[in-house]
Amino acid sequence: MIQISDALKSPLDYARLPREELAERIRRRKTELNAVILGHNYQRVEIQEVSDYLGDSLGLSQEAARTDADVIVFCGVHFMAETAKILSPGKTVLMPDLRAGCPMADFVTGDALRRLKAQYPGAVVVAYVNSTAEVKAESDISCTSANVVQVIDTIPADRTILLVPDRNLARYAAERSGRPYVIAGREGGEVKPGSIVAWDGYCYVHDDLVLDELAEAKRKHPRALVVIHPESRAELLAQADVVASTARMVDIAEQNEEVIFGTERGIVDRLKARFPDKTLVPLSGAAICGNMKVNTLAKLAWCLDHQQHELVLDEDVRTRAELSLRRMLELNQGWAAPTAEEAALEEAGLRKTGCGCA
Ligand code: SF4
Repeated sequence: MIQISDALKSPLDYARLPREELAERIRRRKTELNAVILGHNYQRVEIQEVSDYLGDSLGLSQEAARTDADVIVFCGVHFMAETAKILSPGKTVLMPDLRAGCPMADFVTGDALRRLKAQYPGAVVVAYVNSTAEVKAESDISCTSANVVQVIDTIPADRTILLVPDRNLARYAAERSGRPYVIAGREGGEVKPGSIVAWDGYCYVHDDLVLDELAEAKRKHPRALVVIHPESRAELLAQADVVASTARMVDIAEQNEEVIFGTERGIVDRLKARFPDKTLVPLSGAAICGNMKVNTLAKLAWCLDHQQHELVLDEDVRTRAELSLRRMLELNQGWAAPTAEEAALEEAGLRKTGCGCA
C-alpha cells in the first residue's frame, strides 16, 4: 500500500474541504495509484464528474476487466463492486462506503435460493446482475435488464426457470417470452413446466413509481416519449412507449427532444446536463436511490488516500459466479446446461477456462 503523506483521518475531515480541492486530490491520487474510477449512472453528479467511466453495473465491470489499472474504485452499490471483482480477480477493488448496499439484491440470500432450488429440481436458475455474488454462484446464468428476454429465450420452453430477485423484471420477461409467471411462495397449485418462478423482491425506487405520477408528467409534457425501466410495475410498463435499460436510455436521450424517464433520477440529471436544450424529465422527482447516494466526494477522496474499503470475495464463490456471468456474456452460443465434465470441474472447485471478457 502506498502511504499518502497528507492523508486526513476520516471522511468527515475530507467533507470540510472545498469541492474543487477534493476533485483535484482525487485526480492526483488516481494517477499515483494507477486507479480507475467507475461511476454508476445513479451516482451523485459530482462523483460522475470525476469518474473515468459512467454506465450501468455490467458495462462498468466489463470496462474494469479491460482496463490495465491496478485499482478499481467502484462508486455504486455492493453487488456492482462484487461483479467487478468477479471479472477482475487480479485487481484491487475499492468501495468508498461499504454501507452502499442494494435492498433488491438483499432480498434473496444464497441459502434461500438453495431452498427454492430444492423445491424445483431441474429448474434453470437465472440471476439478475443486481444480485449478490453468492446468489450468482448458485445460478446457471446471469441476465441484465437489457438482455433478460434474450437469456430466457435460449432456455428450452419446457424448462421451469427460477428468476431472482426482481419480481417485476421476471413478469416483464414472462410476458415478452410468452411463459407462465408465478411468484415463489404464492404458487397456489401446480406450476406448469416452462413457467418463470419469480423471487418476491423488488427495487423500491422503481416499484414506487405510480400511474398518478405518470399521468401528471404526461399532462405537463403531452408530446414526450415515455420510457420506463423494466424493474417497474406491470401497469406502468403497459403505459410506456419504450421499455428500456438505463444504458439504452442514454441512446434514447440522444435521439429524442422530449422524454419522460421512469427510472432513478440520477441518470436524468446527468442527461439534462449533457443535453441542456432538450426536455428530459424524471417521471417522479422522488425516484432517488438513497443507497447509491451514500457515496460522496469526501468518501471517495478518503477511499483513495487510505486504499479502503477493499472488496474481498471467497474464491470458490467468485469462480462459480464468474461462470454464471460468462454464460450470459457468451450468449450468442445460447444457454447450455453444464456438461458432465464442466459439472465435475465446478464440483471440484476448478475452472475449465477463464472468463471470455476478462
Ligand atoms: S436503484 Fe434499486 S436496484 Fe439500483 S441500487 Fe438502488 S435499490 Fe438497488
